[in-house]
Amino acid sequence: RAASRKILRFTLPQNKCDAILPKPRACQCVSFFLQIFINNEWHDAVSKKTFPTINPATGEVICHVAEGGKSDVEKAVKAAKDAFKLGSPWRRMDASHRGLLLSRLADCIERDAAYLALFRHIFSYFFTHCLLKGYYAGWADKWEGKTIPIDGDYFCYTRHEPIGVCGQIIPWNFPLLMQAWKLGPALATGNTVVMKVAEQTPLTALYVASLIKEVGFPAGVVNIVPGMGPTAGAAIASHMDVDKVAFTGSTEVGHLIMKASSTSNLKKVTLELGGKSPNIVLSDANMEEAVEQSHFALFFNQGQCCCAGSRTYVQESIYDEFVERSVARAKKRIVGDPFNLDTEQGPQVDEEQFQKILGYISSGKREGAKLMCGGGPAADRGYFIQPTIFGDVKDDMTIAREEIFGPVMQILKFKSLEEVIERANDSKYGLAAAVFTKNIDKAHYISHGLRAGTVWINCYDVFGVQAPFGGYKASGIGRELGEYGLDNYTEVKTVTIKVPQKNS
Ligand code: ADP
Repeated sequence: RAASRKILRFTLPQNKCDAILPKPRACQCVSFFLQIFINNEWHDAVSKKTFPTINPATGEVICHVAEGGKSDVEKAVKAAKDAFKLGSPWRRMDASHRGLLLSRLADCIERDAAYLALFRHIFSYFFTHCLLKGYYAGWADKWEGKTIPIDGDYFCYTRHEPIGVCGQIIPWNFPLLMQAWKLGPALATGNTVVMKVAEQTPLTALYVASLIKEVGFPAGVVNIVPGMGPTAGAAIASHMDVDKVAFTGSTEVGHLIMKASSTSNLKKVTLELGGKSPNIVLSDANMEEAVEQSHFALFFNQGQCCCAGSRTYVQESIYDEFVERSVARAKKRIVGDPFNLDTEQGPQVDEEQFQKILGYISSGKREGAKLMCGGGPAADRGYFIQPTIFGDVKDDMTIAREEIFGPVMQILKFKSLEEVIERANDSKYGLAAAVFTKNIDKAHYISHGLRAGTVWINCYDVFGVQAPFGGYKASGIGRELGEYGLDNYTEVKTVTIKVPQKNS
């Protein structure tokens, strides 16, 4: 591995290559771009600043990436605005051709999956591929308006038009996936994009930028600015020429995004924010499946999921057995080198998150929850945390109210369905929830009572590109994925034409 200032060359470990792609694209060596992507070209930051990308498994610096700030966002917004001008290649492009470009982008992502999976789960690229190719590429020429029978001698129809320049601010927990969730609907509907990727994870997004250029998107349609939230992110949120901002991240920053919109140009805002999702296990549930799925619900991706099942409510008659089995499962969880294909849990993303999670573990102990397993770092270096379970958790404990975003499970006891619905809903969040039971009546009763954007029954984290995802309450505004996801990137224009009733 040799880091230069503008390109990082990386050699794929052989085991990763063999497991992921039987026929690697060209060689085991891959180049990652380290600059800002504007107008299909690579740029240093105006300030010439860079910031380090850290390997969380070791704490070592991998490379330095250009740090975009306000001036770079200015340049990117200008490029996106120019690309959106009436008569530009992008505005004149047939919708079907936009779909074709998305489809080609998906093909390139599939071709280079081994490189992208270096930094991410292999599942991310499958999902990304089907989202871009199988789903949003197809929508590009099918997002139809209506003809409307208004009163009088008029012909009235609606057009679904792109909003314009869309600012997209994404987090670090699923960088490739979040990028695709945002780009897919925005580009299918003909918008242009200025994307700020998370400072912890800029590399895959910049690699995808190179593919965007390769497949032939016109210059300025997609611009990608790595940088910090309070500078580059805030500049997007408050920019007068950004027509819409889509943000995924913490609820705290969600507030700031809304505020920036309200004090600038009232740009449209969609938000996908935090959660503290209840996962409810009834006494008649299939115990083995409920334990395994609840484990997955919390520990998947090191617990770094906005929809993690982080309040596990278990009915009292099965509580002891459920806790015992969950602890046994957590103790078996394989924590270690993310390049090892047997590893179930790698490091947390960075030192800040690592310390924050350890802080929550201390608060759980301090406030009287029962530490059943784990509770500390899992290695001498890197940001690894032991799979941790707290039992006897009470609703008012900090670990039951705040988003931990780490491998720390909270198990709470309940008696009746009415009680658990009320307790599950007693949260500022409402992103997701789950119910485990063999009784379909109870499953419906609970799922209808829960105030959450997604409810899984006898499963967890099942996402379909066709199915909408988003939050109630402080978990967000708007929905992503599926047909609903297109609404957030479209203005509806009503056109009314007088129709003469006589042939004069
Ligand atoms: P997390 O706590 O999980 O890192 P954040 O909400 O802080 O989540 O970050 C999500 C994204 O929002 C990142 O790209 C980050 O840089 C960006 N961000 C952070 N602060 C701001 C801000 N004040 N304005 C705009 N974007 C921000």
